[in-house]
Amino acid sequence: MAYDNNNIFAKIIRGEAPSFKVHEDERTLAFMDVMPQSEGHTLVIPKSPAENMFDLSADDAANLMRVTQKVAVAVKRAIKAPGIMIAQLNGPEAGQTVFHIHMHIIPRWHGIDLKLHAREMADFEVLKKQAELIKAELARV
Ligand code: AMP
Repeated sequence: MAYDNNNIFAKIIRGEAPSFKVHEDERTLAFMDVMPQSEGHTLVIPKSPAENMFDLSADDAANLMRVTQKVAVAVKRAIKAPGIMIAQLNGPEAGQTVFHIHMHIIPRWHGIDLKLHAREMADFEVLKKQAELIKAELARV
């Protein structure tokens, strides 16, 4: 499949679609997942147009992981999550639904199951507050 410049994350990168950003630099963007699988579910994406891990240069992959680690530390502290799951899906067969590569940072608690994938829209006020808490922690990382 060729990279679709009009996928929702490409629009977020270009500022054509809204997002609750927690981090932005020259090469990377991190923002709240609007249909979170748990409280504080955050996404990290490279700005380069790659559909999945196989399209990403080794350098972009390394940068994506470096930023994911930093954002995950901030999410863990901000959301006070004892566990953090980091996931990344490649291809519809693996469950990928947005075809611009992204890392999922998903807080986990003992005994609390994940919500269904990309199903239920979150309260935007809650996402806004969580993004502010994560940004504040990122400033300390
Ligand atoms: P995947 O299935 O791994 O491709 O994950 C795509 C993720 O993007 C899902 O968790 C969706 O909830 C999330 N998502 C879809 N549209 C948006 C959006 N406009 N802003 C933030 N997250 C989104």
